[in-house]
Amino acid sequence: MPVADLKSYLSAAVRLFRVPADNPDLTRAQFDAFSKQVPLLYFILISNTIAVAYTYVNVAPDWLTMIVPSVLTALAALRTFWWLRQRHLVRSDADILRNLRATNWMTLPIGAGFTIWSFALYPYGDPFAKSQVAFYMAVTVIGCIFSLMHLRSAALIVTLVVDVPYVLFFWATGEPTLKAIAVNNLLVSGAMVTVLVIYYRDFADLVASRKSLLAQQAATQALSDENFRLANLDSLTELPNRRRFFAELSSAFGDAERRGVRVAVGIIDLDGFKPINDNYGHSVGDRVLIEAGRRVREVCEGFGPHRVEFARLGGDEFGLVVSGDPDDDDLMRLGQCIGDQVKLPYQVDTAHTGLSCSIGFAQFPDSATTAEALYECADYSLYHAKRHLRGRTVIFSSELEAEIRSRGVIENLLRTSDFGAEMELVFQPIVDAMSEHTAGFEALARWQSPRLGWVSPADFIPAAERIGLIRPLTQALLVRALAAAKTWPDDIHLSFNLSAHDVCSSEGILPLITIIEKSGVPPRRIDFEITETAVTFDFVRAQQSIAALKAMGCGISLDDFGTGYSSLSHVHRLPLDKIKVDRSFVADINDNPVSHKIIKSLAGLCDDMEIACVVEGVETRAQLDSLRRLGCDFIQGYYFAKPMPCATIDGYLAKERQRLRETTDAAKVVA
Ligand code: C2E
Ligand code: CA
Ligand code: CA
Repeated sequence: MPVADLKSYLSAAVRLFRVPADNPDLTRAQFDAFSKQVPLLYFILISNTIAVAYTYVNVAPDWLTMIVPSVLTALAALRTFWWLRQRHLVRSDADILRNLRATNWMTLPIGAGFTIWSFALYPYGDPFAKSQVAFYMAVTVIGCIFSLMHLRSAALIVTLVVDVPYVLFFWATGEPTLKAIAVNNLLVSGAMVTVLVIYYRDFADLVASRKSLLAQQAATQALSDENFRLANLDSLTELPNRRRFFAELSSAFGDAERRGVRVAVGIIDLDGFKPINDNYGHSVGDRVLIEAGRRVREVCEGFGPHRVEFARLGGDEFGLVVSGDPDDDDLMRLGQCIGDQVKLPYQVDTAHTGLSCSIGFAQFPDSATTAEALYECADYSLYHAKRHLRGRTVIFSSELEAEIRSRGVIENLLRTSDFGAEMELVFQPIVDAMSEHTAGFEALARWQSPRLGWVSPADFIPAAERIGLIRPLTQALLVRALAAAKTWPDDIHLSFNLSAHDVCSSEGILPLITIIEKSGVPPRRIDFEITETAVTFDFVRAQQSIAALKAMGCGISLDDFGTGYSSLSHVHRLPLDKIKVDRSFVADINDNPVSHKIIKSLAGLCDDMEIACVVEGVETRAQLDSLRRLGCDFIQGYYFAKPMPCATIDGYLAKERQRLRETTDAAKVVA
């Protein structure tokens, strides 16, 4: 046999007696399995030893029958306790390997010790006692091999250390029975070793397959974790999404309820985002959304000690869940920080985006008792902010709660109201600023509810929009407004307000065209007032509706100008005839230089673009004089007249003619 082959056989043989050092999973499994068998192993060893020692007590010296077994038993007991303690310890791979190695090599002196002791006793016994030693050794070694099944190396060492001397020793006695036992033991040991080798190989395979199964399970788990993460993530901003937000809300709410502390929900809506999307395209819009989301997330992460969960709810709307007992001051501070960040300039292709945000908060337990109701309250706070406090933070309060209740009442009564009997129109003159002639009337709706009395259009028009009744209402009002206008002198115009819902769909605009055609009023006498908000709602649709009305010959006024965002871009892109400057600028025109400047520049803008400038809400002579100096074309307001019923228009116009005649006469006299 070549030397190399011999070497490899030898090293393979040596490996059989060693604990494997390159397979930590296997050694760990061996350690676990073996530590359970150890008490059994020592039980076999000690009980068998005591039985043999007992037989020899009177025939052999005391050191053999008493002292040596006692020492060996004590050693075995110590090892048992040591192993029992190991079961509950958490060990490193290296530690396990070291312990198994120690156990492995310890089988050598222990096995040898018991063998030598047995042979030392043997000469003192009669034939029966001698047979007992042979029996003791054979049985004990079989028991030990079984118990050491999971630690093959140790089992083989025991077999070698005990069985080889055993066979030689009893063969050497020459006694036929003992020789037969020796041969018998040799064969059984051979069979045992074969079983051991097969069992150990299967055990190692089992450990390996369990490991790959665990790896597979871990991979499956990781995949499902990733799916879960993606299902809860907004793909554009990579923020938690709506689904995640509501899960977070319900768990934070449950937690606050249990602990009796406050939790708040916030909803953020970007102001001025739609125009960015409309004017600069969706890719710019997307980048602005991502950047705004990133900034708000940063604010939320740094808002200790409160925990703020931030998510994108969809479009330009984001949600907040603030836990950790936040009070109103905390929420206002959070809203302020978020607003400050959102307002900062954005590094996109456009120069200035003019973005800001409105935030609505509601807090448990003050505002609501369920998570859903809390969200609704926050939504209402946001709605309130958008309408009255744009760009600011609003926390749900008892006033808002009363408002919601009255909203609900208005909606319900409006649903069952009879438009023909309960709705009316009043008309407010729009006067030429220089000649002071009435150029037209704006029709303003009035609802006299049998239950609520007079309800302001500022309340019932939005309610009709919410419950989907605005289109039939607009149509009913337009029929009546045109019927009234038909009775007026031919040069007097009718201004009629349209809502976003009328303007932003073809179903809204087509019936109006039919009504105009049927009315017999020439379209050139009709001006439709459309608010900037209506236009921003759906710019493309609004453009189409406006084009249809223009094609008929109607005029278009942009209403409430100056209250919305990016107004100028709309002015450029829509075929407007008039701009109506919101009355909020007029009230302090003589006291506030900013208001004065704004109206001045708006009047200049209208002049440049050859659009007429109408100023609403003029209440005093001083305001009128200032507006005239600034070059405004038309004036509307209580200074000339409050909105009046149709029946009084004739009288009003007659009076006006009279007044103007007198003024002209007086002027002639002066001249
Ligand atoms: P608006 O179109 O801006 O109408 C002007 C509002 O200002 C009217 O309130 C009018 O009465 C009021 N106003 C006029 N002059 C003065 C003044 O000198 N001082 C003050 N403080 N207020 C003045 P009103 O009638 O309560 O209407 C409120 C809003 O409701 C309107 O604002 C308009 O947006 C909406 N609205 C009214 N009628 C209709 C309608 O038939 N259809 C639609 N879609 N909306 C309507
Ligand atoms: Ca109007
Ligand atoms: Ca207005």
